[in-house]
Amino acid sequence: MSEQKRLLTGDRPTGKMHVGHYVGSLQNRIRLQNKYECYIFIADLHMLTTKPQKEHIDALRENVREVVLGNLSAGIDPERTTLYLQSAIRPVYEMNLIFEMLVSLPRLSRLPSVKDMAQAAQIDDEAVPFGLIGYPVLQAADILMPRAHIVPVGQDNKAHVEITREIARRFNRYYGEVFPIPEAVIGDVPTLVGTDGDAKMSKSRENAIYLNDDAKTVEKKVRGMFTDPNRIRADIPGRVEGNPVFIYHDAFNPNREEVEDLKRRYREGKVGDVEVKQKLTVALNNFLDPIRERRQRYEEDKGYVEHLLYEGSRKMTIFAEETVSQMRKAMGLAGIWNRISRRARDREKRLARQNEA
Ligand code: ATP
Ligand code: MG
Repeated sequence: MSEQKRLLTGDRPTGKMHVGHYVGSLQNRIRLQNKYECYIFIADLHMLTTKPQKEHIDALRENVREVVLGNLSAGIDPERTTLYLQSAIRPVYEMNLIFEMLVSLPRLSRLPSVKDMAQAAQIDDEAVPFGLIGYPVLQAADILMPRAHIVPVGQDNKAHVEITREIARRFNRYYGEVFPIPEAVIGDVPTLVGTDGDAKMSKSRENAIYLNDDAKTVEKKVRGMFTDPNRIRADIPGRVEGNPVFIYHDAFNPNREEVEDLKRRYREGKVGDVEVKQKLTVALNNFLDPIRERRQRYEEDKGYVEHLLYEGSRKMTIFAEETVSQMRKAMGLAGIWNRISRRARDREKRLARQNEA
C-alpha cells in the first residue's frame, strides 16, 4: 500500500448533481485529489435509508450514471480516483454490523441531520426506519473501509463524520489501533441555499441549478430566484446579507470588483434585480461551461462510466476485505474461527487415521 494518505467521500444517487454539491464537497475533492489517494462512492445503500421502494432502485440505473458523470464533469480525474458502487462491496455490510455495537442509540437519535432527512423524505416520526437512525454507522463503515484520513463533505454531514471518529476511537481502544481518526473537510460554502431561498439547495426541492443545466435553463432559474422580499422597487435600498442572489455571486462570480460594485449599488438602491441577475447568469454559465464540455466528452464514450465503476468496485472490494480481516484479527473473532476450523480438521484427520487402522 502506498504511503499517501487517503480521502473518501460519497454521494447518494437520488438525482443529478448541482452547484450546491460543487461548493459543499466537489471543489475540495478536486483541490485535494493530487495530494491524497482518493475514493468516491455511489451511496446506493444510503439511498435505501429514505427510499427503499422498488421504484427508487429502478431509478438507480439512471442516477448512478448521473452521479458519476457529475463528479467527472466537475473535474474529478478518474486516473487518480477510485469510483465504486457501495452496494457491490460486501464487506461494508459486515463492518456496519460490528460498528453498530460501538455507538449508543440515544447518541444517534439526537442527531438533527437524521430528523432533517426524515422530514425531507416525508417520513413521519413513527415510521423512521431503523436503518435511517443507523445512517451514520453505515457512513462510518464507508469511511473506515479504506481507512480514510479525510472526508470532504457539506455541513449537513459534519455531525456524521463526528460519529465515525467516535466509532474509530472506540474500536481502537477496545481492540487495538486499526483505524486513523478521519477529519471532515467542509466546503467553502458549507450549505448553499436554494434558488427559492430555502436553507439548502437540494435535488428533492426543485430549487437547484444542476451542473448540466444548459445556458437557457440557468438564465430562467436565475430570473426566478428569490432575492430581498422587501425590495419592491429598484430604488429602494436592499439587503445583501442572506440574499441568495448575492450568496451565489460570492460563490460563483470570480470578478470580485463587479460583485463589490453590485453590492454597494444594491445597498444604495442604485441597481435593479434584473442587472444583478443578468451578471449572475453570465458568471454561472462561465463557471458551468467547462463542466458541460467535460460531461459531453465522457458521455460520448459508451460504457466508460460502467468500466470505471466495475474496476473501482473490484479494487475497493480487495481493500475492504483486507480491512475486515484486520478487524477480525484485532477483535479476536478470526482467532476463534481459526481454532474451530483447526480442531475440526484435526478431528477429521484423526478419524480418517482410525478408519485406516
Ligand atoms: P439527498 O437529498 O438525497 O440527501 P443531497 O443533495 O443532500 O441529496 P447527498 O448525496 O446527500 O446530496 O450529498 C452529497 C454531498 O454534497 C454531501 O457531502 C453533502 O453534505 C453535500 N451537499 C448536499 N447539498 C448541499 C448544499 N446545498 N450545499 C453544500 N453542500 C451540499
Ligand atoms: Mg443528503
